[in-house]
Amino acid sequence: MEHYFIKTNRTFTFIRKYAWFITLLVAIGGLWEPKLGLLVLFIMAGLTTTAFFTGRYWCGNFCPHGSLFDRLYLPISRNKKIPDFLKSKAFVFGFFLFFMFNFSRKLIRAFSFWGTYNFLDRLGYVFVTTYLMVVIAGGLLSVVSNSRTWCQFCPMGSIQKLSYKLGKLIGINKKTDRKITIASKEMCHSCGKCARVCPFQLTPYLEFSANNQFENPNCIRCATCVENCPANILSIATEEEALKLKELTNLDGYKNRQKIKAKITDIKDLAKDIKEFTFTFVEPEIVDYKAGQFILVKIQDKPRAFRAYSISSYNEDSRKLSVIIKKVERGYGTNIIFNEFKVGDMVDLEGPMGNELVPDKAAERILFIANGIGITPFIGLTKDVLLNYPNVKEVVLLNGQRYENELLYDEYFKTLEKLYGKFKYIPVLSRDKSSSLRKGYVTDVLKEMDVTGSYVYMCGSKNMILDSYDILLNKGIEKECISYESEEKIAV
Ligand SMILES: Cc1cc2nc3c(=O)[nH]c(=O)nc-3n(C[C@H](O)[C@H](O)[C@H](O)COP(=O)(O)OP(=O)(O)OC[C@H]3O[C@@H](n4cnc5c(N)ncnc54)[C@H](O)[C@@H]3O)c2cc1C
Ligand code: SF4
Ligand code: SF4
Repeated sequence: MEHYFIKTNRTFTFIRKYAWFITLLVAIGGLWEPKLGLLVLFIMAGLTTTAFFTGRYWCGNFCPHGSLFDRLYLPISRNKKIPDFLKSKAFVFGFFLFFMFNFSRKLIRAFSFWGTYNFLDRLGYVFVTTYLMVVIAGGLLSVVSNSRTWCQFCPMGSIQKLSYKLGKLIGINKKTDRKITIASKEMCHSCGKCARVCPFQLTPYLEFSANNQFENPNCIRCATCVENCPANILSIATEEEALKLKELTNLDGYKNRQKIKAKITDIKDLAKDIKEFTFTFVEPEIVDYKAGQFILVKIQDKPRAFRAYSISSYNEDSRKLSVIIKKVERGYGTNIIFNEFKVGDMVDLEGPMGNELVPDKAAERILFIANGIGITPFIGLTKDVLLNYPNVKEVVLLNGQRYENELLYDEYFKTLEKLYGKFKYIPVLSRDKSSSLRKGYVTDVLKEMDVTGSYVYMCGSKNMILDSYDILLNKGIEKECISYESEEKIAV
């Protein structure tokens, strides 16, 4: 089984990148200069105060140990599931009592030197040894389990939760409490990526409240989920901002989202590691969808997770649809789909969703730009605009692949080109030296093209989309006339 949890960058700010230095300074430097331990007093004051206003924000954004775990220990961590008992209330509470008992004992001993020359050194040393213990114990847990295992029962985390509870009870942190917020639950792909990258292995996508906020007090507001959500629908917001966002989010393209039971009626090999799956709807039997939309395919129940796939088929009678899936090396979902899905199996789908690639009916010139597996929505879309968009006078498809044998549905596009004078199909190959087709990237062709007045729809890699976007803007295309979809988060 492929690994569920994913290691990604979690240190988005200068403090998060380098605060680990303070940990080592106190824990190791403090062995020579114990007064360095007194720095921890400021850290404790800082975390207790911020927690009152905005929960465990400190853990995700300022904590020097957190920085150590995320920056230095994560690369060597096995990144496994954190054992449940280490998160249990009984363990967290028990460890808090144990820690506080020992800590108080050491403090009392240090205070017995009150008024002497040694007092500050004795006091600092209490913090130095505590910091060193966390570096060693937390480090061991990081490597064998998960880099943020220590944080599950860290007494400083417990203090923050208490302070946060107090802030909530008094009710004065409403304006400062910024939580993970989803623009709309309808737009969520239920892909679970937010959970797979979460340092605390939380599952925000399964827990959003009626206000679209993630209320879990353990959330350290580190925004790793925000940075990785492929639907780009997560942010950190106050309750007031969340309600506004909910009101303003445009749900066009998501209103017909529904749960669908379907049967796999065909699986075709299209190329190495690329298969086309056809799903025939069972319940309901008819599902209306538009070319350019995508569908969610369930891959597992625990935790409930789907994968999003562009609908590749042209909608003939709303009774079935096809998707084309590329198996990803080490990919969690595609390995399940390729190894377990068989003709005759029932699957759960959700959708149809999205309108980014559904062309504007007013368009007269349409430009489709694809690379890699991003070609799939344009199979149904090209036919749809040629048949059902009476205003369209020209359709151009730029299809970037590496080798000629990776050109999916090549004959189909060539046939459409012969049948419809207004359609132009331009395959571009980046690595195939033996082919007579155009060499290079789609962006090379785009630079040479006259795209005046075109509506542009792009699907593929993040770099291709960002580069094409710049070229199009330079050519005078308005932002409103450019749409795109990608499996990676893109924000332009
Ligand atoms: C709107 C939309 C439409 C899409 N349409 C299509 C389509 O038509 N066809 C298609 O094939 N795909 C499509 N996708 C992508 C699809 O949803 C999946 O993301 C894709 O199939 C990979 O899923 P996976 O679970 O196998 O990969 P994942 O396991 O999610 O892996 C994704 C990436 O992370 C890397 N990774 C995984 N685990 C780790 C780890 N532990 N450490 C480090 N790196 C890791 C993988 O190598 C891979 O590069 C679409 C996505 C979106 C958002
Ligand atoms: S990462 Fe996936 S599951 Fe999580 S909020 Fe974004 S789309 Fe939804
Ligand atoms: S839910 Fe998001 S913000 Fe909260 S801890 Fe997990 S990744 Fe960080």
